[in-house]
Amino acid sequence: MRLLAVLAHPDDESMGTGGTLYRHATAGVDVHLLCVTRGGEGWQGKPPGATKEDLPRIRTRELEEAGKALGLAAVELWDYPDGEVGDCDQAEITSRIAESIRSLAPAAVLGWGPDGGYGHPDHMRRRCLHRRRRGLDRRGPPSGPVPHGLRRAVGPSLP
Ligand SMILES: [Zn+2]
Repeated sequence: MRLLAVLAHPDDESMGTGGTLYRHATAGVDVHLLCVTRGGEGWQGKPPGATKEDLPRIRTRELEEAGKALGLAAVELWDYPDGEVGDCDQAEITSRIAESIRSLAPAAVLGWGPDGGYGHPDHMRRRCLHRRRRGLDRRGPPSGPVPHGLRRAVGPSLP
């Protein structure tokens, strides 16, 4: 069985979804993570002496370490600009996500819900996953099989 998490930033895999990813990985589920940005606009907390320009490299390394700690089978990191995912080509992002779903054929896809967890615009832009899933349900994919067993896209939501 395979699970695909599609998230916006390095740290999303640990914040809110880490327990779910770890639990599934340790139960023998093949957990894949697709992270849309390198987190170049992250919050403070950089190591002493690090600059804003260092942040994507630092967060990439942190994501790799988190992936190992969580027992993830694979981490794919894209390079859309942090904080500006909504300004990027939504059709392209949606198509890339759909292709990942087709090629991995996960039983479930996990991502931020429509509220983005706490309203982060990049989390909310990931709604394209939900729109795409509905599209798969309604019309079928433009090419390739619909992943068997994919019934829902789920994600964490804070009250
Ligand atoms: Zn995030």
